[in-house]
Amino acid sequence: MQTKRPTNPQAEEILGGYFRVLDHGFVALVDYMGSDEDVERAARVSYGYGTRKRSATRGLVRYLRRHRHTTPSEMVELKFHCAMPMFIARQWIRHRTASVNEYSGRYSLMPLLFYRPEQEQFGLQSRSNRQGRESVANRKVWAEAVSRWDALRSEAAAHYEWLVEEEVARELARIDLPLSTYTQWYWKVDLHNLLHFLSLRADPHAQWEIRAYAEVIAGMVKRVAPLSYEAWVDYDLGGATLSRGELEALGRLLEPTGEDAVAVRDGSDKLDGPALAALGLSSREIQEFRDKLRPGRRPNHELDLTRMRSAESISEEMARAVPEVFE
Ligand SMILES: Cc1cc2nc3c(=O)[nH]c(=O)nc-3n(C[C@H](O)[C@H](O)[C@H](O)COP(=O)(O)OP(=O)(O)OC[C@H]3O[C@@H](n4cnc5c(N)ncnc54)[C@H](O)[C@@H]3O)c2cc1C
Repeated sequence: MQTKRPTNPQAEEILGGYFRVLDHGFVALVDYMGSDEDVERAARVSYGYGTRKRSATRGLVRYLRRHRHTTPSEMVELKFHCAMPMFIARQWIRHRTASVNEYSGRYSLMPLLFYRPEQEQFGLQSRSNRQGRESVANRKVWAEAVSRWDALRSEAAAHYEWLVEEEVARELARIDLPLSTYTQWYWKVDLHNLLHFLSLRADPHAQWEIRAYAEVIAGMVKRVAPLSYEAWVDYDLGGATLSRGELEALGRLLEPTGEDAVAVRDGSDKLDGPALAALGLSSREIQEFRDKLRPGRRPNHELDLTRMRSAESISEEMARAVPEVFE
C-alpha cells in the first residue's frame, strides 16, 4: 500500500542504512515523521500539503529560526539507532529532551567492542581549554597507549567472559567493562531539540568523538528537512550571538546608511584592547569576540552513500563480538 504520509526521497534513500562512526560505532536513521512542509503547516495551522511555493516555505522556515519560534519544528520527529562508546553515551544522554531505549547489559551479553582513538586524534591536554586537546602526541606515546589499551581491554573482556561462563548474572559480569566499551540505543527526538543537540555537539568546543556523531546526524537532518537544516547552519551553527558590549563595539565601527547598506564610520578604523575593555568586555570575552569575527568554514555534512551498510551486516558484526555461551 502506498503511504499517504509526506516523504522525502533524499531521506528515503538512507532510511535503515547504517553509517560508520569511529571504529565500531554507527548511526542509522530508522524512521522520520514530517519535513520542512510540516514545520510550515504547523506554524500556519493550515490545511493540506503542497499548496505553497517552496520559496515561501523556505522564507518562513528561516524566519521562524531567526526569531526562535521553535514549536513548529517540534512537529517533525526523527528516530535513530546509534552505537557509541559509553563515555560518549554519557555526554549524549545529558540531552533530556529525547526518548531513549538503551541496550540492556543486564539482559543481553555485551558485544566486546572497545573504542581505540586513531593517532591523529590522540591529542595532548590543551593548555588554554581545560576541556580539550591540542597538538597530537608523538607516535611513540600513541603506540605505547595502544599496547596498554589492548592489554587492559583483553583482560576486562576475558574477565567478563569468565564471569558469564560461571553463570554470574550479566548485570554483575559487566561492571568492570571500561568506558571505551560500545553501547547502543534507539534515540527519538523532535527536530527542534535535535538541532539544539547538534548546535552543542557539532560545535568545535564539543569532544571530537561526539562531534563525529553530530556530523553524521546533521547529514541525515539535511536529507529529512533540508530547509530547516540550511536555516540552522546559517543562524545557529555558523552564526553567533552578540553581547551588548560586542554590539556596542561593532556600532562604534559600523553604521547603517541609506536603505540597505552598512558603512564604516568616519574616523573609526580600530578598537584596541583598552577600548574593548572600556565597553565591559573581559580579556576572555575579547578573545571570544575576535573568534566570532573570523569567517567560519561552511560545513559540508554530506553523507557518503557508498559507505552505507545494511542492518544485517551490522547485526552480524555485533553478534560476532558477543562472547559465546555454551548452554
Ligand atoms: C562543550 C560542553 C561541555 C560540557 N561540560 C559539562 C560538564 O563539565 N559537566 C556537566 O555536568 N555537563 C556538561 N555539559 C552538559 C551540559 O551542561 C548540558 O547538560 C547538555 O549539553 C545538555 O544541554 P541541555 O540541557 O540544553 O539539553 P536538553 O536536556 O536536551 O534540554 C534542552 C532544553 O530544554 C530545556 N530544559 C530541559 N530540561 C529542563 C529542566 N529540567 N529545567 C529547565 N529547562 C529544561 C532547556 O532550555 C534546555 O536547554 C557540557 C556540554 C557541552 C556541550
